[in-house]
Amino acid sequence: MQTSAEGTSPVEPHLLGDVLPELAVELERHLIEANACDIAEQVRTLPILARCGCDGCGSFYTAPEPDGPWGPGHQSWGLNSQLILDLVNRRIVFVEVLDRDDIRDALSRLFPQQNP
Ligand SMILES: [Zn+2]
Repeated sequence: MQTSAEGTSPVEPHLLGDVLPELAVELERHLIEANACDIAEQVRTLPILARCGCDGCGSFYTAPEPDGPWGPGHQSWGLNSQLILDLVNRRIVFVEVLDRDDIRDALSRLFPQQNP
């Protein structure tokens, strides 16, 4: 792991569009269909900060995990039965991915240190 001389961010975040390009395309498609272009354009550059700790799901955080609830401005947006977005003031903060072994496996390769 490289350390940054400028002391900005010590770890380069994994970006959704780089790591899970197929999921990024899928999310974008759903959001554009829902006329949510402002949200669709966030998708590719979303940082994957942590994955959900529970067993078997492929959900991940794209904003730091809050201490409690997400707070005002939070909404949950189901795109289909497998994909649910959590938004705060129309920023994607958490992507819930259910029953998708491909995504779950990719995430466990990214975060091997995080055991459920
Ligand atoms: Zn989970």
